[in-house]
Amino acid sequence: MGRVVVVGAGVLGLTCALRLLEAGHRVDVLARDLPRETTSATAAAIWYPFLAWPQDRVLAWAEDSYRVFAALAEHPDSGVVLRSGTEVVAHRDQRPWWADAVPDLRETVEVPPGFDGGWTFTTPVVEMPIYLDWLADQVREAGGSVTRLNLHGLPRTGDGGPDAVVDCAGIGAKFLAGDPTVHPVQGQVVLVEQVGLERWWLDGASAGGPTYVVPRSRDVVVGGTDVEGEWSRTPSPEVAATILRRALRLVPELAGAEVLGHKVGLRPARPEVRLERVGDVVHCYGHGGSGVTLSWGCAGEVAGLLG
Ligand SMILES: Cc1cc2nc3c(=O)[nH]c(=O)nc-3n(C[C@H](O)[C@H](O)[C@H](O)COP(=O)(O)OP(=O)(O)OC[C@H]3O[C@@H](n4cnc5c(N)ncnc54)[C@H](O)[C@@H]3O)c2cc1C
Repeated sequence: MGRVVVVGAGVLGLTCALRLLEAGHRVDVLARDLPRETTSATAAAIWYPFLAWPQDRVLAWAEDSYRVFAALAEHPDSGVVLRSGTEVVAHRDQRPWWADAVPDLRETVEVPPGFDGGWTFTTPVVEMPIYLDWLADQVREAGGSVTRLNLHGLPRTGDGGPDAVVDCAGIGAKFLAGDPTVHPVQGQVVLVEQVGLERWWLDGASAGGPTYVVPRSRDVVVGGTDVEGEWSRTPSPEVAATILRRALRLVPELAGAEVLGHKVGLRPARPEVRLERVGDVVHCYGHGGSGVTLSWGCAGEVAGLLG
């Protein structure tokens, strides 16, 4: 048991901090952006493996996380609910590679016009502003701290410093870990008023990026885009209009829904998620479009690496 500094207050940093506190470590989270300012706060966020590799590790982390989120859905204050929804496909072929991780995946033909069919299943929907606040509260209640600090390098261990560092810097790992393989995949979403939707919808193959409609308690997240290598976090009105047009094909009830806001986030992409221990540093970044989906599985592995 020792003193651990976690760099990053997104979903990975906070979840790792919590698992480390549960394991008996003393934990301080240092982050330039506080939870609601992170990429994690922009996520839609449904449990769905997307833009993260390698498949075998991703599947194991996703399965673990599904179980934890399903249990958290019993606690409404966490911001997690289980919702049924459908991923539409243009051509029905084999089952998704992650099918074994969800309990009730089934084929459906009840899809909007223009689609061949789809996969209907129950998945955790995580209302990120509520969930990140809940996670940060859990960290503080367990004795940890969350402090704003812009770092120019990973903290040094030993000699008055922490015993170990966990690097959950997301896209910031490009600079903090000096990792040129980390790159942004920009995603834009539109927040619209809740019009009584219960089910989520996803079209992962639409031109212009994945189209999704994710109902939350007070609004609906409508996405989206996946622009490789784009660093801007400024929403584009033209892109927002195309997102809403695409979403109407999936959910016509959205016609006329009031637009409440626009958000852009930079998914921290990498050829493979980096989760490994190097000396006293555990790197845990590069989760692409699946940071929420993989968070509990990865945090458990991080805690295991620090004993
Ligand atoms: C539009 C959109 C929709 C998405 N939808 C989903 C979804 O439905 N399901 C899903 O699982 N995932 C989704 N994602 C992906 C998900 O948001 C990311 O994978 C996840 O947020 C990554 O979390 P993280 O904790 O690694 O990084 P972040 O949330 O980016 O947090 C990184 C932290 O590191 C800190 N940091 C970085 N550099 C420094 C520095 N120099 N000094 C101090 N602190 C630093 C930051 O300030 C921040 O606190 C979506 C992403 C986007 C953009």
